[in-house]
Amino acid sequence: MTEPSTGSDLASISTSATRDGDEWVINGAKTFITNGINADLVIVVCRTRPEGGRSAMSLLVVERDMAGFERGRNIEKIGQHSNDTAELFFDDVRVPNGNLLGEEGNGFEYLGFNLAQERLSMGITGLAASKAALGWTIDYVTQRSAFGQPVASFQNTKFVLAEMATELAVTEPFIDQCVMQHIAGTLSPAGAAMAKLWGTELQQRVTDRCLQLFGGYGYTTEYPIGPAYVDARVTTIYGGTSEIMKTIIAKEILD
Ligand SMILES: Cc1cc2nc3c(=O)[nH]c(=O)nc-3n(C[C@H](O)[C@H](O)[C@H](O)COP(=O)(O)OP(=O)(O)OC[C@H]3O[C@@H](n4cnc5c(N)ncnc54)[C@H](O)[C@@H]3O)c2cc1C
Repeated sequence: MTEPSTGSDLASISTSATRDGDEWVINGAKTFITNGINADLVIVVCRTRPEGGRSAMSLLVVERDMAGFERGRNIEKIGQHSNDTAELFFDDVRVPNGNLLGEEGNGFEYLGFNLAQERLSMGITGLAASKAALGWTIDYVTQRSAFGQPVASFQNTKFVLAEMATELAVTEPFIDQCVMQHIAGTLSPAGAAMAKLWGTELQQRVTDRCLQLFGGYGYTTEYPIGPAYVDARVTTIYGGTSEIMKTIIAKEILD
């Protein structure tokens, strides 16, 4: 989806595909594509009509060795080093019509269908990552001493742990409810956006507060909390930013 000049505003995508006999000819560029270096098949959101917003988009499957399809940099990131993040370039890439995924002009609708599941999964991951961070922190503060007593014995530590445990306890039934709605096919776009917004913002708050309780060791890669903190930072950006989640939620409230 994402292009160098277009991220949040998906309807402004400019990568184009024009029909030429039994083929489509793709021109444009994508960026920030997770696993784009490793992927053998890339589903590319293309504008198949020059005019129009959402109804001008289609999905085309591009295969690794197609002429004119090049990978650029594996973008260096501050975290999430376990996956690659790629630039992709399309220069007159000829794709057979059989590689058109679904119907021409319905690309945006298909994206919307899958984005809700992706957003819910990010909310679930946010909760799971927060739980892990809290567990590591409880272990650490009970073992680490300062001023002759365990860090866990300070009132501040107890209060911070209690606040985080409460936030996790409140979040879990909400995320469970979203999962049940998703299975039943009733989770709305706004519900999925709430799960993503809340779960990922929680993950950032919790990893930040946990890192503080590790002191200097939190800022190293010797304990998992440091990498978890930088990995968490992107979660309120990719898959749709927190600001975009709020616009989706507000739209449903006000409609
Ligand atoms: C590690 C990583 C992996 C990624 N993986 C993928 C991937 O696999 N596939 C893919 O397609 N994309 C991927 N992305 C791209 C990601 O989805 C975009 O970065 C994201 O959607 C934001 O787009 P942008 O970076 O262009 O920011 P912009 O859209 O330029 O936004 C800049 C700022 O403006 C704010 N903003 C924009 N519009 C509004 C508005 N209407 N109201 C209020 N605020 C607004 C945003 O919230 C943000 O704070 C990835 C990004 C990263 C960093």
